[in-house]
Amino acid sequence: MANQEHDATLAARLKQVQKRIEKAALNAGRNPADITLVAVSKFHPSDAVAELVRHGQMDFGENYMQEALRKQDEIQALLNKDPARRPALRWHFIGHLQSRKVGDAIGRFALIHTVDSLKLAQNMHKNIINSTPEGRTPTPQDILIQVNIGEEAQKSGVAIDSLPELAEQVETLSGLRLLGLMCIPPFFDDAERSRPFFVKLRELRDDLNNRLGRSLPCLSMGMSMDFEAAIAEGATIVRVGTDIFGPRTQAR
Ligand SMILES: *Cc1c(COP(=O)(O)O)cnc(C)c1O
Repeated sequence: MANQEHDATLAARLKQVQKRIEKAALNAGRNPADITLVAVSKFHPSDAVAELVRHGQMDFGENYMQEALRKQDEIQALLNKDPARRPALRWHFIGHLQSRKVGDAIGRFALIHTVDSLKLAQNMHKNIINSTPEGRTPTPQDILIQVNIGEEAQKSGVAIDSLPELAEQVETLSGLRLLGLMCIPPFFDDAERSRPFFVKLRELRDDLNNRLGRSLPCLSMGMSMDFEAAIAEGATIVRVGTDIFGPRTQAR
């Protein structure tokens, strides 16, 4: 019973977030369908993820490789019990990707949001090329470049000044397909203070479009606190954890 109540709450929270996205998009003169909601499930149990899948949520984000891979398997097993529902989930890796975990990540995520160095990109590329049978064309891994938009010493992400060079180098790696940029602005408890960082990421993306001669379609920006502002500034992917799943406890 308690469980059913929890599920009802989850579905209601998901719906609320979807409504907020829709409203923010319409206010900005954008099509709500152009914004992908990634439900960030880190620290939350697989049951909760499976429940959201039953309500149509398809995109999920995880920060820690071990936890992500464990949940992918658990959720597939849960969903396989219900043969009428075998949806193609899209997993997003949004945490810091360690070089030694690259082999685990390749092919298991629809999108990796956190590429931030040439070394990491080359490592991923090599891993993909080496695991492709001879004579076959490698299936590229879709990626975003994470930008350290607030130039914070402790944060991951490529420095703003180094972004153009990194993007040009990534373009030459056939194992990777660069789709856009991602950022986590400095933490504020006022969404309006995040907005200039969202504007900045969009401008960096527009500059890169000119430099690369093609349009990078994705801007991954905005979390529970500030996703409406991010949508107003052009986000195509928002990453929402707390406002869907509730607060995170430390235990995983
Ligand atoms: C945890 C996390 C989120 C979700 O944050 P909430 O504030 O819970 O919505 C989004 N993006 C990244 C990179 C995260 O690590």
